[in-house]
Amino acid sequence: MTELVTVDAHLTRILDAVAPLSAEAVAAADAAGRTLAEDAIAAVDIPAFDNSAMDGFAVRFADVADAASSPAALRVVGDVPAGSADDPPIGAGDAARIMTGARVPSDADAVVPFEDTAGGLSGSLDAAVVTAAPRARGAHIRRRAEDMAAGDVVLPAGSLIGPLQLSALVAAGVTTVRASRRPRVVVVSTGSELVPAGTAAGPGQIPDSNSTLLAGLVAETGAEVALRTSVGDDPLELTSLLARHAGADAIITSGGVSAGAYEPVKQALDGRIRFSKVAMQPGKPQAFGTLDGGALFFGLPGNPVSVAVSFEAFVRPALLALQGRDRIHRASLRLPAATAWRTPPGRRQHVPIVVDRADAGGWRVRPATAGGSGSHLVGGLGLAEGYAIIPAETSAVEEGDLVEVVLLSPPF
Ligand code: AMP
Ligand code: MG
Repeated sequence: MTELVTVDAHLTRILDAVAPLSAEAVAAADAAGRTLAEDAIAAVDIPAFDNSAMDGFAVRFADVADAASSPAALRVVGDVPAGSADDPPIGAGDAARIMTGARVPSDADAVVPFEDTAGGLSGSLDAAVVTAAPRARGAHIRRRAEDMAAGDVVLPAGSLIGPLQLSALVAAGVTTVRASRRPRVVVVSTGSELVPAGTAAGPGQIPDSNSTLLAGLVAETGAEVALRTSVGDDPLELTSLLARHAGADAIITSGGVSAGAYEPVKQALDGRIRFSKVAMQPGKPQAFGTLDGGALFFGLPGNPVSVAVSFEAFVRPALLALQGRDRIHRASLRLPAATAWRTPPGRRQHVPIVVDRADAGGWRVRPATAGGSGSHLVGGLGLAEGYAIIPAETSAVEEGDLVEVVLLSPPF
């Protein structure tokens, strides 16, 4: 019997084969989901100019410093709404009405909010009677570049550009970024029992759910699904498909890698890539190698839960590394098990889990599939919120045991 290889050793082999893809210029507005290949540098200051943090009056601090004991009556000489380029001169005893985000006049050194005046908004274009002194010179003024200055690094190379990062880039005046090219990935289901999703299955047939699963997971990494298809159990079908897509960055198959009579991946690629038995459950049979055209080839097992787990353990880190992502592993946390479950000796277990939030002060996890850890339980996979990862050395999980958990979706 072939010796089992650990999950970590198998992943190391895969990551050793990854060479990061080239970078390209991308309009910042189109860069969501991409990975920065170079630091993004601020083109402008944030804030771009001194501006008001409040609706009220721009004043000279000296005029209102004693307002708490003797209210200061000021003459309003200008009106500066947000977006205005006006810079009204403000002499001693003067004020300009100003709105949040508007440029603070050069002569003013504090803003008094309407709340600290006798009249507030009413009559505010004529006079302001200030009844409370701003706490200091500069009060309620957001200073130019206090957040970030032109030339600063907005985001370092390796960052994923999500909505928060995109807003920082836009605010910093970054119009173009250098980002990794998106990996082009081919997803292939194998099995003569498969019918395309949405098609009625005849006797002995099942819907091909793996290619849908893999295409979605691939897209979540920022890669592009160049092709999603399925082949039967004749290895020649797969061979000719691989020949037609030799230029892909990665090819992911499901099924056909284990010990049955009809294993098209094994039959088509034996001797060209490595077939391994990995010490994990599910997901033991795995194939990996680099094809002649340079494509990374992942031959995942066929059972749907094995596919999901294998993708998470091996394919996702590789697709992120291809894009030069700084963090290729998800963060994990430790949560108590809400129930006991069995785990195989000598194999690391990856269990789809749901989070029990009954006690907001202490979440717990339980397997998502009531039927156990079976790799064919694809129905329960739809409930899964993450995975528990149980070390190979652990022989059983007892209720209350702290287990390592990776959450996939933000906890709602
Ligand atoms: P295999 O590794 O090819 O022997 O497949 C293992 C199990 O997974 C079998 O029960 C297959 O019917 C099932 N399976 C394989 N491919 C798919 C697929 N694309 N969608 C759903 N189930 C599949
Ligand atoms: Mg099969």
